[in-house]
Amino acid sequence: MPNTPYPSSYYAASAHPAPQRPVLEGERIADVCIIGAGYTGLSTAIALLERGYSVVILEAAKVGFGASGRNGGQIVNSYSRDIDVIEQTLPAKEAHLIGQMAFEGGRIIRERVARYGIQCDLKDGGVFAAFNAKQMHHLEAQQTLWARYGHQELEMLDKAAIEQVVGTHRYTGGMLDRSGGHIHPLNLALGEADVVESLGGTIHEHTPAIRVERGAKPVVHTNQGCVKATYVVVAGNAYLGNLIPELAAKSMPCGTQVIATEPLSEEMAKRLLPQDYCVEDCNYLLDYYRLSADRRLIYGGGVIYGARDPADVEKIIRPKLAKTFPELANVKIDYAWTGNFLLTLSRLPQLGRLGNNIYYSQGCSGHGVTFTHLAGKVLGEALAGQAERFDAFAQLPHYPFPGGRLFRIPFTAMGAWYYDIRDKFNV
Ligand SMILES: Cc1cc2nc3c(=O)[nH]c(=O)nc-3n(C[C@H](O)[C@H](O)[C@H](O)COP(=O)(O)OP(=O)(O)OC[C@H]3O[C@@H](n4cnc5c(N)ncnc54)[C@H](O)[C@@H]3O)c2cc1C
Repeated sequence: MPNTPYPSSYYAASAHPAPQRPVLEGERIADVCIIGAGYTGLSTAIALLERGYSVVILEAAKVGFGASGRNGGQIVNSYSRDIDVIEQTLPAKEAHLIGQMAFEGGRIIRERVARYGIQCDLKDGGVFAAFNAKQMHHLEAQQTLWARYGHQELEMLDKAAIEQVVGTHRYTGGMLDRSGGHIHPLNLALGEADVVESLGGTIHEHTPAIRVERGAKPVVHTNQGCVKATYVVVAGNAYLGNLIPELAAKSMPCGTQVIATEPLSEEMAKRLLPQDYCVEDCNYLLDYYRLSADRRLIYGGGVIYGARDPADVEKIIRPKLAKTFPELANVKIDYAWTGNFLLTLSRLPQLGRLGNNIYYSQGCSGHGVTFTHLAGKVLGEALAGQAERFDAFAQLPHYPFPGGRLFRIPFTAMGAWYYDIRDKFNV
């Protein structure tokens, strides 16, 4: 993928200047070779470098080229399936550990931003918006569940209260997470890449890993060189393809679309999102939106199973935006783009190990800004011999998609359609 440009997103257009990082040529030796420079790879690298490991990251395109440089920018706590599901799946001790970590990813982002002075437009506060009484009950149960694990930063909003923070009449109510928030995702990734290098790590761009030679000392091969390492961390997520067939079999790349409007007037921005919180609704196929630092509305939604790029992103997202904010029905859209996240059958993330020395983390199922940062820290602990928290995640079962590569897309789309219909008819 030589010289692959970023997709033409608002984020690419407003990215901080970044250096050209060299293609790997020849042989390198490192404690850890990481495949992929998204949040998972960068966060793992920072955790390891802070512990004194030598780290080389191989990135097929550019830092933040994948979901990490294109996402909605929403810092959403907990996991794509919540702790109650994990409690039903794991023994009490492991479920408890994972429950305690549910808000840690957001804290790691804030700590790193503060410690290393990363400029990424960080703002506090995220709203979960409910369309009906069933979704409100679900949010109330979630607040109680999270409080059991010590996460107290939640506030229920009735209809009048949510209309104070989101300028639409669409919602019945919602829940405010004061420890949620939002960021410019690509600038966070670029800032983290600078941190990696300032701590002595190396990043090679335009350097896809093309083969991983397993063994006592694994070797990661690229087109013009290789890295001999003690450990390999696979962090390619939805862009990994079939490099590691075991990982491809238990996950499915999916596309989701985002648009950014022209900058709104100060008055309009204040009317739509007076406190500048980000918002995601409670539907299975959800809409998410927020303001950028220059007052654009960044609005995302829609899922394409199998990750084909739609011909016209604006056609998919504009009607959703207009339904939430009718006054923006004819607003100019300056940017429209798509990106891939990795879905797992359980919608729980997959953290694990292949043999003794190849680690991976993938499959946040569309809810990965915080989890990827937590995963990096947990992987760092595991490689350093403190594997209790890693082992808790690694015990979550990983299922292959039914139907194999041929039928997993229609099967999953049918499942999602079923949940979408339930949301639409409130059943
Ligand atoms: C449009 C969109 C909106 C989203 N919105 C949100 C949101 O608002 N909040 C939230 O919590 N989550 C959101 N997500 C999910 C979140 O962005 C992801 O879970 C997260 O960024 C995944 O990070 P990652 O590092 O694991 O993967 P990625 O960021 O995809 O990075 C993987 C990297 O690996 C590289 N790579 C792949 N294969 C190879 C190889 N063989 N050799 C070398 N490099 C390789 C790729 O080029 C890529 O740069 C969204 C996702 C998308 C696509």
